[in-house]
Amino acid sequence: MTARDFRGINPATGDALEPPYPVTDAATLEATVQSAASAADAYARTSGARRAEFLTAAAANLEALGEDIVARAMLETALPEARLRGELARTSNQLRLFAHVAQEGSWVEARLDRPDAARMPPKPDLRSMRVPLGPVVVFGASNFPLAFSVAGGDTTSALAAGCPVIVKAHPAHPGTSELAARAISEAARTSGLPEGVFGIVYDDGYGAGLTLTRHPLVQAVAFTGSRAGGLALLQAAQARPVPIPVYAEMSSVNPVVFTVAGLAQGGDALATALAASISGSGGQLCTQPGLLFVPEGETGDAFLQATATQLDQTPACTLLTRGINTAFNQGTVRLRVHPGVTAITAVPSTDTGAQAQLYSVPARDFTPDLEAEVFGPVSLAVRYDDIGEVATLVRGLEGQLTATLHADPEELSRLGDLLAALQNRAGRVLFGGFPTGVEVGHAVVHGGPFPATSIGSGTSVGTHAITRFTRLLAYQNFPDAALPPALQAANPLNLLRRVDGDWSREPV
Ligand code: NAP
Repeated sequence: MTARDFRGINPATGDALEPPYPVTDAATLEATVQSAASAADAYARTSGARRAEFLTAAAANLEALGEDIVARAMLETALPEARLRGELARTSNQLRLFAHVAQEGSWVEARLDRPDAARMPPKPDLRSMRVPLGPVVVFGASNFPLAFSVAGGDTTSALAAGCPVIVKAHPAHPGTSELAARAISEAARTSGLPEGVFGIVYDDGYGAGLTLTRHPLVQAVAFTGSRAGGLALLQAAQARPVPIPVYAEMSSVNPVVFTVAGLAQGGDALATALAASISGSGGQLCTQPGLLFVPEGETGDAFLQATATQLDQTPACTLLTRGINTAFNQGTVRLRVHPGVTAITAVPSTDTGAQAQLYSVPARDFTPDLEAEVFGPVSLAVRYDDIGEVATLVRGLEGQLTATLHADPEELSRLGDLLAALQNRAGRVLFGGFPTGVEVGHAVVHGGPFPATSIGSGTSVGTHAITRFTRLLAYQNFPDAALPPALQAANPLNLLRRVDGDWSREPV
């Protein structure tokens, strides 16, 4: 292994895995960006049907890799086989979902305002639609080696929008990344698309990611990871002579509020479900419920004790990387020594991996530092006396991906202030259930106010994600034949369009 190579690490054993991966050198990185930029115009002009063919082929190629990619991801991440098989299915389904979106085409939001020469002043012929931004850089996430990585939602939505993609592979799973990249590159080749439509770079450090973010030909960045990493990329993008958007998904503790009546309705099953949501995938999920609001008193005590018992019985797990393991140990030690915080789960052993943990703190001792995300299987319960004070506490929280309420529907009319606070702080609000297990669909929102995401108007999951990599373009008084098909009078793509403000598929 040379100084410019690195290998994936098996987090369960600490062994370096074969083969070594060469860090992408500066010349290759530059060629990758140039190739993406050269492909951008031609790719932007491809039809939705062509992009759909490409994404469908990528899904099939990824599925064909099934055993190999799951085995490699297991070695590199220590995530269990069932979880990775499910993630592979989610990833290929996501590719097919965006293939459908590209093929159907109405995502371009075509609008036509018809001209009126008799009006004073005369009204022009205006037609607008969404168009792709150009080359997008995607940072693969460590915690979803498939669904938020090389062939994940960011890549898929950018490709569906008509943007070439350059992925910065996460160094924790280089082999998985290489296999997924092969599936996409091969699909691009068989679909007759230019080579630069998809590229990948490898780096064990910040150099390549920052170079890509600062590159003048790159038009947007998508990132999932730490707040420090997301903010560093945001700053780099804003310091460019021409700033670009960075869609960063960073930290979230996903508050879950339980009322006394909500706990009574949930019964024992609620504690079991909460423990599973805290500890599933080693708690390394962006929607993991890391902050709970639980009433003081016997009902709350019994619920937390039942949850802690379940967590104590959950086997310790291996976390994704040594860095994440260190951060988890430091974060849980900070909780243990914090004034006012009490451990409810048993004292964890330090040598058996990451043991799921549950802590509690009285609401009066809850300080902003206790809101910091501790990535892994741990949660903090804030014990409140009166549900009225929870709305104030929730309003004081940072932006979140999700916020959940467990209450009796009958009491909702009295909880208006709390409901408003939950909606104000999160991108997705849940009534009952737990926020882990994100459905990939048309209505889902996986976003939220800062620092859950850097641009709170977007989502990185679901079909809305496509708009992040587009801008609006209006054509004024253009000859019909010179317009993109989406805006032509005959509506040759049969799109649902807004014509003078009303939805229609009719020609104009
Ligand atoms: P990370 O450290 O943020 O790394 C993610 C990617 O960004 C990697 O490719 C990394 O490059 C790059 N990067 C990080 N900092 C950078 C910087 N300052 N400049 C340029 N590039 C930078 O995330 P991670 O490795 O997955 O895990 C670390 C922590 O992130 C976790 O402990 C957890 O707190 C958080 N995390 C949160 C979520 C979530 O969904 N909320 C998901 C994953 C991780 P290199 O690795 O090559 O240096």
